[in-house]
Amino acid sequence: DHWLLCTDGRIEDFGPMESCPDVGEVIDAKGMNVLPGAIEMHIHGADGVDAMDADMEYIEKISEHLPGTGSTSFLATTMTAPIEDIERALMNLADYRYVAGARMLGIHQEGPFISKKHPGAQDPKHILVPDREAIHHLQDISGNQIRLITYAPEEDDGEFLDALKALDTIPSAGHTDATFETLKQAQALGLSHVTHLYNGMRGLHHREPGTVGFSYMSDAYVELISDGIHSTPEMVKLAFDVITPDRLVMITDAMRAQGLPDGEYDLGGQTVHVAGKEARLADGTLAGSVLTMKQAVRNMREFTGCGWTDIVRMSAYNPAVELGLTDSKGVIRKGADADLVIYDEDADLKHTIIGGKMYF
Ligand code: FE
Repeated sequence: DHWLLCTDGRIEDFGPMESCPDVGEVIDAKGMNVLPGAIEMHIHGADGVDAMDADMEYIEKISEHLPGTGSTSFLATTMTAPIEDIERALMNLADYRYVAGARMLGIHQEGPFISKKHPGAQDPKHILVPDREAIHHLQDISGNQIRLITYAPEEDDGEFLDALKALDTIPSAGHTDATFETLKQAQALGLSHVTHLYNGMRGLHHREPGTVGFSYMSDAYVELISDGIHSTPEMVKLAFDVITPDRLVMITDAMRAQGLPDGEYDLGGQTVHVAGKEARLADGTLAGSVLTMKQAVRNMREFTGCGWTDIVRMSAYNPAVELGLTDSKGVIRKGADADLVIYDEDADLKHTIIGGKMYF
């Protein structure tokens, strides 16, 4: 029973129906849910392209594809590979200029400074020890667009985390064998994010709570892939209950096969077999996902029984807080960007609007 007015790409105003202004084009969303669009903090690719392709076609295709999945902005996510390949990908992203569709808000650099004990689908051949000089160099050639780095805190001699803070990059524990104690110490120095809970990390043990225990009990934001495969519906519910929507961040971790048929695809130089909802290396290791944000939303509601306000927090508001963007993104408020998604009562995505323009 409310209206919301978008002008020049921004939310101009909103209010109850009796005061509805009689202007412009009208989208009838009666009985539906109008939410701030999802901000994807961890997505490698979709629709055949990957951030590691180091090709402008990546930006064009992913920006055009994401609105249909319920996302309005994203962090382009790189992965562990030969350092020259990472450099090429970063230099390509440095040239990014917004044209249309979903907006790239920066880069999530996953690896190569991770643990050989938990590589997941990151090629262990190319893992490096965290290096202060190297990250300054990488941030420089990315045009200072690296917003978040997934690394292994236990491999850090103390200087790397310092460098990340100086570079205004969010430090995230992931692909890590860090103990609870190591992570508590890192948190005191600024660690504030955990990459894909349960996956690529030291598990929960009753005498050593590990990275999972830290995720449950810290103040950090925690990424969760709610596909029912990277974590079962029960473990998604447990994370939701313990970590709460105040700290959870819904991600897809999608790779290039998202939105394409089953088959063989490349992920960071390794062959991935996609069948149904699963993407795996030949040895069975999970390798990214083909999850879409709108499916993540449906699953989250089904697995946890959560409401739309919780979805807004986990998919849009928390990422916006972390990226320092709550004046413009992840919120519905006067003057914010008109980045909106509209879901009906059955949680089917009906429309996606970015900068006031309808893209889906
Ligand atoms: Fe990963």
